[in-house]
Amino acid sequence: MADTTFLRAEAVSRSYGGTELSGVRNITLDITPGKITAIIGESGSGKSTLLRLLYGLLSPDAGRVSFMGERIWGPEEKLIPGHDDMKMVTQHTDDLNLFARVWDNVAAMLPSTDIKAKEEKTEQVLRQLNMMHLSLKRVADLSGGEKQRVAIARAIITRPKVLLLDEPFNQVDTSFREGLQHDIRQIVKETGLTVVMVSHDPAEVLSMADELIVIKQGEIVETGHPKELYNHPQNLYTAELLTNCNVLNTDEAKACGIKTDKQAIVVYPEWIRLSNVLKTSEWLVKEILFKGPYEDLILENKGVILRAVNNEPDTYKEGDVVGVKVKRWLSPL
Ligand code: ADP
Ligand code: MG
Repeated sequence: MADTTFLRAEAVSRSYGGTELSGVRNITLDITPGKITAIIGESGSGKSTLLRLLYGLLSPDAGRVSFMGERIWGPEEKLIPGHDDMKMVTQHTDDLNLFARVWDNVAAMLPSTDIKAKEEKTEQVLRQLNMMHLSLKRVADLSGGEKQRVAIARAIITRPKVLLLDEPFNQVDTSFREGLQHDIRQIVKETGLTVVMVSHDPAEVLSMADELIVIKQGEIVETGHPKELYNHPQNLYTAELLTNCNVLNTDEAKACGIKTDKQAIVVYPEWIRLSNVLKTSEWLVKEILFKGPYEDLILENKGVILRAVNNEPDTYKEGDVVGVKVKRWLSPL
């Protein structure tokens, strides 16, 4: 029977020696084709290691990585490391030719056997990534974010089946980042490209990913759809990665009117209802962090600090006393 799996890791471990907690351990996962999978975790949790194992830049100490049923070759077995059907883009875009034009950097990835096809494909990719206006510029004259676009264009022009992205948007300005994220989503929809990305930016993974893999200290702690993991995280670690949430102990929970014997409960800032009618507990507005369309209020009551979202900026000022009602709370592990 034909093996129908796509990109798969089975009980994969890789340690760098030295400290016990380096690398990744016992990773089993299946990447869904045609979707965007995001690997999230705190710094040092093993995200880059996992991506390099999937690509074949690293060999596992134990376990097996396979693509379409075939084992991925490690760098010891392959002259040019990395699987031919995959491309990887990291923050380090060193392989760009800084003194050549954007167009030539991208076109150079294709063979010159069919010049017409080469030109058509180059134009198509530059259009898909909204960078036709940059095509005649030298790469050296581009911003960090624009260089990242060139690196991504070079990666996708050869039509890989899988695009691996290791925090490639870090250098991209926030305003441009959303555009690039949108363009990549669009390419995934149009071409069926599979993307595996690593990120620690919650806004990015929540808006971009179809599936999330959460890793902590080299191990997968949970996986799922972004909305599902956001609303029902099984682990405190996941909640803290995805949102700037309030983590309260039993006594602190009591100050919010929550009776629980749980060691730690989680209240998202948007689950707090504020009111001037002080029927509930009374909280002092210590600080207001203006965020444009909304603001974050830092509230205090008997030494307990709470972060709440206020969708109607300017309703309160620092020093005000407000009533707080917690609409929802969670008790993840
Ligand atoms: P992340 O990308 O999530 O920040 P990494 O995969 O880069 O994490 O690293 C995971 C762990 O392995 C970290 O503790 C890191 O220090 C260690 N590590 C990564 N690369 C090496 C290496 N080449 N040599 C030794 N330790 C490493
Ligand atoms: Mg990394």
